Amino acid sequence: MSARPALALVAHDAKKDEMVAFARANAERLKAFDLVATGTTGARVEAACPDLPVTRLKSGPLGGDQQIGALIAEGRLDGLIFFVDPLSPMPHDVDVKALTRLALVYDIPMALNRRTADLLITTDRLAGSEPA
Ligand code: PGA
Repeated sequence: MSARPALALVAHDAKKDEMVAFARANAERLKAFDLVATGTTGARVEAACPDLPVTRLKSGPLGGDQQIGALIAEGRLDGLIFFVDPLSPMPHDVDVKALTRLALVYDIPMALNRRTADLLITTDRLAGSEPA
Protein backbone atom coordinates (compact mmCIF):
# COMPACT_ATOMS: atom_id res chain seq x y z
CA MET A 1 0.00 0.00 0.00
CA SER A 2 1.05 3.60 -0.52
CA ALA A 3 1.83 6.30 2.02
CA ARG A 4 -1.76 7.46 1.85
CA PRO A 5 -3.98 6.47 4.77
CA ALA A 6 -5.92 3.27 4.26
CA LEU A 7 -9.65 3.08 4.88
CA ALA A 8 -11.73 -0.10 4.85
CA LEU A 9 -15.37 -0.20 3.74
CA VAL A 10 -17.71 -3.03 4.71
CA ALA A 11 -21.49 -3.11 4.52
CA HIS A 12 -23.89 -5.91 5.25
CA ASP A 13 -26.42 -6.64 2.51
CA ALA A 14 -29.24 -4.54 3.98
CA LYS A 15 -26.77 -1.65 4.31
CA LYS A 16 -25.13 -1.74 0.90
CA ASP A 17 -27.38 0.92 -0.61
CA GLU A 18 -26.46 3.13 2.31
CA MET A 19 -22.75 2.51 1.70
CA VAL A 20 -23.17 3.41 -1.96
CA ALA A 21 -24.95 6.62 -0.98
CA PHE A 22 -22.15 7.38 1.50
CA ALA A 23 -19.47 6.77 -1.13
CA ARG A 24 -21.26 8.93 -3.70
CA ALA A 25 -21.76 11.76 -1.23
CA ASN A 26 -18.13 11.63 -0.08
CA ALA A 27 -16.36 10.59 -3.28
CA GLU A 28 -13.99 13.56 -3.29
CA ARG A 29 -12.94 12.97 0.31
CA LEU A 30 -12.55 9.24 -0.24
CA LYS A 31 -10.04 9.90 -3.03
CA ALA A 32 -7.51 10.83 -0.32
CA PHE A 33 -7.45 7.22 0.89
CA ASP A 34 -6.32 3.84 -0.25
CA LEU A 35 -9.67 2.07 -0.12
CA VAL A 36 -10.05 -1.59 0.69
CA ALA A 37 -13.37 -3.38 0.96
CA THR A 38 -14.95 -6.75 1.30
CA GLY A 39 -15.82 -8.21 -2.08
CA THR A 40 -19.42 -7.29 -2.69
CA THR A 41 -19.23 -3.96 -0.91
CA GLY A 42 -16.21 -3.04 -3.03
CA ALA A 43 -17.96 -4.05 -6.23
CA ARG A 44 -20.97 -1.90 -5.39
CA VAL A 45 -18.82 1.12 -4.52
CA GLU A 46 -16.72 0.78 -7.67
CA ALA A 47 -19.82 0.44 -9.84
CA ALA A 48 -21.33 3.57 -8.30
CA CYS A 49 -18.09 5.59 -8.24
CA PRO A 50 -15.86 4.53 -11.15
CA ASP A 51 -13.27 7.17 -10.16
CA LEU A 52 -12.72 5.50 -6.80
CA PRO A 53 -10.30 2.59 -6.99
CA VAL A 54 -11.04 -0.05 -4.37
CA THR A 55 -8.90 -3.04 -3.46
CA ARG A 56 -11.43 -5.81 -3.15
CA LEU A 57 -10.81 -8.60 -0.69
CA LYS A 58 -12.89 -11.75 -0.28
CA SER A 59 -16.57 -11.46 0.43
CA GLY A 60 -17.22 -10.97 4.14
CA PRO A 61 -18.77 -14.37 4.84
CA LEU A 62 -15.88 -16.05 2.97
CA GLY A 63 -13.11 -14.41 4.98
CA GLY A 64 -13.11 -10.76 3.89
CA ASP A 65 -13.86 -9.48 7.38
CA GLN A 66 -10.93 -11.49 8.67
CA GLN A 67 -8.66 -10.14 5.95
CA ILE A 68 -9.52 -6.62 7.09
CA GLY A 69 -8.87 -7.69 10.67
CA ALA A 70 -5.44 -8.90 9.59
CA LEU A 71 -4.70 -5.49 8.04
CA ILE A 72 -5.56 -3.90 11.39
CA ALA A 73 -3.34 -6.32 13.30
CA GLU A 74 -0.49 -5.56 10.90
CA GLY A 75 -0.87 -1.81 11.42
CA ARG A 76 -1.90 -1.24 7.81
CA LEU A 77 -5.34 0.27 8.30
CA ASP A 78 -6.15 3.80 9.47
CA GLY A 79 -9.93 3.62 9.63
CA LEU A 80 -12.91 1.31 9.29
CA ILE A 81 -16.37 2.14 8.05
CA PHE A 82 -18.53 -0.87 8.73
CA PHE A 83 -22.26 -0.52 8.16
CA VAL A 84 -23.61 -3.29 10.33
CA ASP A 85 -27.13 -4.69 9.92
CA PRO A 86 -28.44 -5.02 13.46
CA LEU A 87 -31.69 -6.73 12.42
CA SER A 88 -30.55 -9.85 10.56
CA PRO A 89 -28.88 -12.99 11.84
CA MET A 90 -25.57 -13.63 10.03
CA PRO A 91 -23.73 -16.86 9.43
CA HIS A 92 -20.48 -14.95 9.92
CA ASP A 93 -21.47 -13.19 13.11
CA VAL A 94 -18.26 -14.35 14.77
CA ASP A 95 -16.25 -12.61 12.03
CA VAL A 96 -18.17 -9.39 12.60
CA LYS A 97 -17.35 -9.57 16.28
CA ALA A 98 -13.70 -10.40 15.58
CA LEU A 99 -13.32 -7.44 13.23
CA THR A 100 -14.89 -4.90 15.56
CA ARG A 101 -12.88 -6.35 18.43
CA LEU A 102 -9.58 -5.85 16.59
CA ALA A 103 -10.54 -2.28 15.72
CA LEU A 104 -11.03 -1.72 19.44
CA VAL A 105 -7.83 -3.52 20.42
CA TYR A 106 -5.77 -1.39 18.04
CA ASP A 107 -7.77 1.80 18.65
CA ILE A 108 -8.71 2.21 14.99
CA PRO A 109 -11.31 4.89 14.21
CA MET A 110 -14.43 2.86 13.43
CA ALA A 111 -17.84 4.02 12.22
CA LEU A 112 -20.63 1.47 12.47
CA ASN A 113 -23.40 3.60 10.99
CA ARG A 114 -23.93 6.32 8.40
CA ARG A 115 -24.05 9.30 10.71
CA THR A 116 -20.83 8.36 12.44
CA ALA A 117 -19.21 7.69 9.08
CA ASP A 118 -20.22 11.17 7.91
CA LEU A 119 -18.52 12.61 10.99
CA LEU A 120 -15.43 10.46 10.61
CA ILE A 121 -14.84 11.24 6.96
CA THR A 122 -14.92 14.99 7.58
CA THR A 123 -12.16 14.98 10.18
CA ASP A 124 -8.62 15.78 9.12
CA ARG A 125 -7.28 13.42 11.76
CA LEU A 126 -8.33 10.34 9.84
CA ALA A 127 -6.14 11.50 7.01
CA GLY A 128 -3.12 11.41 9.29
CA SER A 129 -2.69 14.70 11.13
CA GLU A 130 -1.96 14.43 14.83
CA PRO A 131 -4.47 15.49 17.48
CA ALA A 132 -3.70 18.88 19.04
P1 PGA B 1 -19.52 -8.34 1.32
O1 PGA B 1 -19.19 -8.68 2.82
O2 PGA B 1 -19.13 -6.92 1.09
O3 PGA B 1 -18.70 -9.28 0.50
O4 PGA B 1 -20.99 -8.57 1.15
C1 PGA B 1 -19.70 -7.87 3.84
C2 PGA B 1 -20.00 -8.70 5.04
O5 PGA B 1 -21.08 -9.28 5.10
O6 PGA B 1 -19.16 -8.80 5.93
